[in-house]
Amino acid sequence: MISADNRVLVVNGYEGIGIPLKGQHMESPSTLRALTEEVVKFRDARDWKQFHNAKDLAIALSIESAELLELFLWQDADAVDHVTKSNTGRQRLSEELADILIFVLYLSHESGIDLVQAVEQKLKINDAKYPVAKSYGVSKKYTELE
Ligand SMILES: [Mg+2]
Repeated sequence: MISADNRVLVVNGYEGIGIPLKGQHMESPSTLRALTEEVVKFRDARDWKQFHNAKDLAIALSIESAELLELFLWQDADAVDHVTKSNTGRQRLSEELADILIFVLYLSHESGIDLVQAVEQKLKINDAKYPVAKSYGVSKKYTELE
């Protein structure tokens, strides 16, 4: 598969659309920082920074999240399986996940938030809220854990 910047991505389990099968992993040269630099470069080449205030980035992120939900709206279990397992469904899913991540990267970049640090901090908070001993195999909200 050739990425937008013409790098060749090595994909295990590639089935024609550049998305690895479930349980397999894509080898990617990108780190979060490199990915952020790529999307900022894409944006700046188009002079779109002027539109990227926090409010509009948050709205765009929400809209892209809604587009993800739209893939599953009114779908029965078989159709949901189609989205997650077929090449065409996985392509659409891949594109919506990418759209979401792109806006997450823009918003964190413009806000000066280190996403790796933010996720690590949030995992610590969640670990305190959901200790394994109380939450293992349990889907309850932390306020309802016994
Ligand atoms: Mg989209």
